[in-house]
Amino acid sequence: MIDGHIHTPYCPHGSSDTLKSYIEQAIKCEYQSMTFTEHAPLPSTFEDPVPEKDSGMSFQQVEEYLNDIDRLKAEYKKEIHIQKGFEIDYIEGYEKEVEDFLNTYGPSLDDNILSVHFLKGKSQWYCIDYSPDMFKEAIYDFGGIERLYQAYYHSLNQSVLSDLGKYKPTRIGHMTLVKKFQHLYPSPENWEKKAHKFLELVRDHGYTLDYNGAGIVKEHCKETYPPLPMARQASSMGIPLIYGSDAHTASSLGQGYDSIDSRLLKL
Ligand SMILES: [Zn+2]
Ligand SMILES: [Zn+2]
Repeated sequence: MIDGHIHTPYCPHGSSDTLKSYIEQAIKCEYQSMTFTEHAPLPSTFEDPVPEKDSGMSFQQVEEYLNDIDRLKAEYKKEIHIQKGFEIDYIEGYEKEVEDFLNTYGPSLDDNILSVHFLKGKSQWYCIDYSPDMFKEAIYDFGGIERLYQAYYHSLNQSVLSDLGKYKPTRIGHMTLVKKFQHLYPSPENWEKKAHKFLELVRDHGYTLDYNGAGIVKEHCKETYPPLPMARQASSMGIPLIYGSDAHTASSLGQGYDSIDSRLLKL
């Protein structure tokens, strides 16, 4: 059991469960390997569109976060393989700041994820997985749900194509996050076509995918990111899939694992 996407108490919108409690729970769940991927601090010139301004961890805590994991890695090394990393936001137009961050911390990191949560509409930025209300506002601002999906997959494609320097993560987070509220706002008919183009790009660049179980427990989503047929398609194209619980509490480690096809996972 490998889990490549786990949050921590350093996440300001997560829980205060300790790193140790995540590790103990992981051992109980018979994990062999776990990667802590806290939301990296957002670029300082980017204004978080979420009212609480809590989408990423603070810059002041980065060193403490990394040191804490190093200490626990050593302490638990006989029991479980612990990896240290970040979930990095790909935000169009902010590549330089992200590259600077990666150049600073990249050399000490083991494993990272690159994700798209933020899209720029006509009038402002949106965090597409924040709330049904913000998602609805985004649909209006973009001029319909099809355009919103278009913008999401455009940004995902750019995340693969962008130059973020030599420490750029090569695993893309939850590639169907735009479907989080799909039972309230159904996906446009042709969405798979856009997603398929993205898969081709992932394959051509030798990237991998976060096979994320969190969507299953979200009441308006009820499917993994990506859903099973798309995970099978990705796998048949030779794209490695790495399970991610995207846990924001220790007890949600392993979430969605029952709903994924574990035969598709990269070992
Ligand atoms: Zn989070
Ligand atoms: Zn994420």
